[in-house]
Formats: sequence, C-alpha cells, structure tokens
Amino acid sequence: MSTETTTKPLVRIEGVHKLYGSHHVLKGIDMTIKQGEVSVLIGPSGSGKSTLLRCINLLETIDAGRIHVGDELIGYKEVDGKLHHLKVKEIAAQRSEIGMVFQRFNLFGHRTAVENIIEAPTQVKKQSKTTAKKRALELLDQVGLADHANHYPAQLSGGQQQRVAIARALAMDPELMLFDEPTSALDPELVGDVLQVMKDLAKSGMTMVVVTHEIGFAREVGDTLTFMDGGVVVESGDPREIIANPQHERTKGFLSRVL
Ligand code: ADP
Ligand code: MG
Repeated sequence: MSTETTTKPLVRIEGVHKLYGSHHVLKGIDMTIKQGEVSVLIGPSGSGKSTLLRCINLLETIDAGRIHVGDELIGYKEVDGKLHHLKVKEIAAQRSEIGMVFQRFNLFGHRTAVENIIEAPTQVKKQSKTTAKKRALELLDQVGLADHANHYPAQLSGGQQQRVAIARALAMDPELMLFDEPTSALDPELVGDVLQVMKDLAKSGMTMVVVTHEIGFAREVGDTLTFMDGGVVVESGDPREIIANPQHERTKGFLSRVL
C-alpha cells in the first residue's frame, strides 16, 4: 500500500505511559502513523497492545504523554498552555472519528445486521433512518453481506458477524480504524474472508492500526510492523524486513513462535 501513503502523519503517539494502579503497562510509547498507512502491531500477550489501542480510542486515559489524531489532542484540550480533560460530549465527538473492531464482535443480539449498523449514525450523528439504512446496505455490500441485511447475529457465522462489526464501525465514516485481534476468535476457515475485507479497506486508503498474529497479513498488507514487548516498542519498520531479519532477540523469539 506504500504507493498510496502520503507523508502526512494522522496519528502521533508521544511518550505515552499507562498504569493500572502500580502496574506500569505502557512505558513510553512513541509511534507515528501516516495518513493511509496500515500499521501492524504484534507482540506477546500482556505486552500492552490492546491498552495502546484503547488509549487511542479514549476507552482509557493515559498517565503521561500525548496522542494526536489529526489536529486533535486525544482526551484533552489545551487552553492557555494548560491541559484540560475533555467533557463527555467532546470525548464522544473524538471517539466518533475512530472506528474500533474487537476480537469479540459485540453486536446487539436482538437487532439485525442492518439495525446494528444504523444504530450509531442515527443515535450519535442524528442521521435519518432512510439515509443511515442506504449507507448500511452499501457497507454490507462492501463486506460481502448484501444478502444478509436482515439476519440476526445468531444467524450469522463468526466471520460474518465480524464483517458486520467492520461495516458498523465504517458507518460513522471514521478517519482511523483500529482492529484488536479481529480474527483471533474465529474458526480458521472464516479468517480469510475477514482479512480480505481488511485488505480491501487498506487498498481504499483507510488508515489502519491492526493488532494481529496473522504474520501473512502483516507481510502482505502492512506498511509498518511494530513489535511490542513489556510495554515498550522493541522494534519497528518495514514488515518484510523485520519478518525476514529481526534485529532483536525478543522479536526473533516471538516471530519463531508465531510463524
Ligand atoms: P495485550 O493486548 O498485548 O495482550 P493488554 O494491553 O491487554 O496486553 O494488557 C497489558 C497488561 O495490562 C497486562 O498485564 C494486563 O493484565 C494489564 N491490564 C489490561 N487491562 C487492565 C485493566 N483494566 N486493569 C488492570 N490491568 C489491566
Ligand atoms: Mg490484547
């Protein structure tokens, strides 16, 4: 995707620390993600990958550092050189610019695919039901589920549910999409369809941060691969170079376990 990547950074993560009580989970994370870039994040369980995504998406507050998405400082605003926490409404506005897809799809079980997708656009963006539905049907087509619009989650496979979850996130027209192990809960034969949807999305120019153990996806679709361990970035760079020739022992050890 590098041909489509411009040099403008969309996400700037600077010196980010996160503690849960005395448990120091993120220990000074610096990362830049350009507009249109697919940034793949790997690392052992407990290394802080989900926490980092949750900090970008304002599901967690950070204890030090700054995160910018576009021109916005995430979670805070600066007034006369002082940082103030954003109000609930302002947090909601920032969050609506960022789509997130989780390992578990968390669809509303008592709502159909299309009803799941129109929920946020109608409630948060106050779109009319007709407008939101039209867009939802386009998105279902985009994820290969045009003929499943009126299915309930229980009538869909895990892979189909995850594709609905992706469509639901896209319905808010986010400028950034975060994926937290989107295929880890799926049966192996369902993984490919979800990865294909993500690949198409990357091709369309979406800026994406993807936590995954799918090294093939990282190699094929990723512009950058970042290996985290123990709350720090151990190494980051071209996915193909890092996979072929990891520079750090910890990266080597991890890759040898997942490849
Ligand atoms: P990863 O996604 O890389 O597996 P996480 O970001 O989920 O790692 O977790 C990093 C560390 O933070 C782990 O030690 C985990 O137990 C801890 N942690 C995550 N969420 C919480 C929480 N809400 N409260 C306390 N500790 C947490
Ligand atoms: Mg995780």
